[in-house]
Amino acid sequence: MKKIKTKIIDRDRIVKYLDQELNTATINDLSRNGLQVQGTERVRRVGLAVDACLDAYEAGAGKNCQMIIAHHGMIWGGLPYITKSIYRQIKFLFDRDINLYAAHLPLDLHLKLGNNAQIADLFRLKSRKPFGDYKGIPVGCEGMLPAAMKIEEVSARLQKALGGKNILLPFGKKENRRLAVVSGRATDMLAEAIDKGIDCFITGEPRHEHHHLAKEAGINAVYCGHYHSEKVGVQAIGKLLEKKFGIECVFLDIPTIM
Ligand SMILES: [Zn+2]
Repeated sequence: MKKIKTKIIDRDRIVKYLDQELNTATINDLSRNGLQVQGTERVRRVGLAVDACLDAYEAGAGKNCQMIIAHHGMIWGGLPYITKSIYRQIKFLFDRDINLYAAHLPLDLHLKLGNNAQIADLFRLKSRKPFGDYKGIPVGCEGMLPAAMKIEEVSARLQKALGGKNILLPFGKKENRRLAVVSGRATDMLAEAIDKGIDCFITGEPRHEHHHLAKEAGINAVYCGHYHSEKVGVQAIGKLLEKKFGIECVFLDIPTIM
């Protein structure tokens, strides 16, 4: 049997490369993007997760990962009290010398790797434009479908690619051409979609009162799950790191009920 050579990559090379690729220094975000918890300098395998949590660390440790890259990291704003859940998380990572890297907004809005770009790619959206204002930064995108689709077809394509079960607000046109995508909890951007004349708005989490907002405005909306809408970005990072460094990357699939 052919012996597979395991590549060992210096952690700081990966961190530097991702910081540059994702422009972490220039994007204003509550998430402390970049290396949040320092572990070993030698990385043989990278785990990719949507959420930094004990379940993801245990899965990563079980798969012998020296680094975990998460879309929702552990540190938001300043350094929290290192007690309770945060203590358990940090202790787990320290005890096993695992690095934790976070990429939140930089990974939502990235034009190639981003959650929204990846979902737009599923639909081959043309004439893409920034969409979804978050504190002055457009985090999502909008674009035109190559051929009109019914809302059920939009939903079926999302479910096939992302998994999960979608919630639909089918109050708009029968034939959709103009789509807007904002991953995660971009619920309130439904208003922007209405103002801009979007045919079908796609986001992760629904909101009760948007039933009537969408109905009265005559717009379609598809909610494909916060988790499912945000796993494509970290998966794209994994492919990029495999290509760039020849390092092994594994997706740690820990779905939430959202
Ligand atoms: Zn999110």
